[in-house]
Amino acid sequence: MSCAISALTVESPSSSSSSSSPGYFGTDSPNLERYPRRGRRHSYDSPVSRRSHIYDADAIFVRVDLFLSELERRLAWLDNYRQERILHLDATLKQGYAALEAVRDSCSYASGELIWGAAKQRAKICVETLESRFSNAIPSKQSLEQKAQASMKLMDSYLSELEARAHARQSNFSAAIDEGWKRVDNSIAHTREIIDEGFDRARKAKEVLKESISSALLQAAETRLIRYEDLPHPWQVNPHIIRGYRFTESKVECLTSIFKPSNETVNIWSHVIGLIIVLAIAFYFYPTSATFPLSTKTDVLISAIFFAAACKCLICSTMWHTMNGIADKTLLERFACVDYTGISFLVAASILSTEWTAFYCEPVSRSVYMALTAVLGILGTILPWQSTFNRADMAWARVAFYVTLAATGFAPVIQLNMTRGPEWSFYFYAPIAKSLFVYVAGAMIYASHVPERWFPGAFDYVGGSHNIWHLAVLGGILFHYTAMIQFFNGAFRRAVEAGDCLA
Ligand SMILES: [Zn+2]
Repeated sequence: MSCAISALTVESPSSSSSSSSPGYFGTDSPNLERYPRRGRRHSYDSPVSRRSHIYDADAIFVRVDLFLSELERRLAWLDNYRQERILHLDATLKQGYAALEAVRDSCSYASGELIWGAAKQRAKICVETLESRFSNAIPSKQSLEQKAQASMKLMDSYLSELEARAHARQSNFSAAIDEGWKRVDNSIAHTREIIDEGFDRARKAKEVLKESISSALLQAAETRLIRYEDLPHPWQVNPHIIRGYRFTESKVECLTSIFKPSNETVNIWSHVIGLIIVLAIAFYFYPTSATFPLSTKTDVLISAIFFAAACKCLICSTMWHTMNGIADKTLLERFACVDYTGISFLVAASILSTEWTAFYCEPVSRSVYMALTAVLGILGTILPWQSTFNRADMAWARVAFYVTLAATGFAPVIQLNMTRGPEWSFYFYAPIAKSLFVYVAGAMIYASHVPERWFPGAFDYVGGSHNIWHLAVLGGILFHYTAMIQFFNGAFRRAVEAGDCLA
């Protein structure tokens, strides 16, 4: 997986300096000059700093990360102060607000585990989201670092104007608002610092992250487990899990930590034990079952693909949960082969075994369905790592992909309904209902952060949504195995009735 951030240093060509002048926004783009900026003048407006010849790309991506967290705070404030009224009269501002929301949503997409910390990837998504909404607003021939700079400038202009209007309206109403405004003003100052161009500033932002890593390490050395708020920003994933975080520079310590209690203990051991159970089934219970001697080599291969997918999913998950306390972003991202991609492959392998047995004596239908499922299963492990696939405006593509993957599991049901009748199909598919139910229920719990969302801190060590999800995955695997054995037995009976169709 290549989601690691490369620390590269690039030259900023002096010819590109004109592109950072305010006039570069094209005709389709918002006219930012209509909105005078509050506060002091930005250093990125200065021709001297524009000539700054070295960009530290990595530091810029880290700054985009920091900017995005400030963006969330500032948008939350605007939400509280009823932005609809502010936006009422101005279509351009409305478009800007929608773009800011799109950036916020696309950059905090999915479980958070998927792209969190991958600062470069977040910067890319941020730039692409803005490019898709404002053609010409971001100069097309620039490097990602320069585009990221331009994106932050564009977003800050909108935010400043929205906030200025909100403040002007609200300060007429109540003194209490002043407190809220003070908070947002601090956030604005912070954002300005983040945006301000210049090598030193870029370095500083990187230093901020380094400092927060060092202080988290110190805290962890003292108390072993630290709290959510002590974690550096890129490590913060689920705010409802408050205590029990590991944080260390040592890989060995990550490994040995599995024997000490932490908020990952249940996640790790549920899948270690799960892996042992799956291996025991694959190498002992399945070969000694009554089904095995009746199986052809291809039948065994289909079962083996399912067992391999189950093991891959459990191993990736265990590795991830064991190593996610490591205080090294690059290393961390290498271990981030999360449950999400493992599960697509597992679902595809489970559907394959169903298709194989459902059309045991119908080679044409069988080949078509299985080829489609196999292709989608492989795509399912690749696509989630593509930033384009994760963009907010690509939601339709994600929905279409997962619906198609699921449809390859359901299309055979329709065909069997028509060719063999509903009763036959019902009895054929009944064994898989349990497995399907636990997967779907588990995924819903996983996505909703329930129950810790309702009682933050109460499920830090045991009983959180991720613990439940892990048990659901294990349950889904075991229920599918029992269903698969029943599918094989049914297929063998039909093969005998049809005069041994595979012979
Ligand atoms: Zn997990």
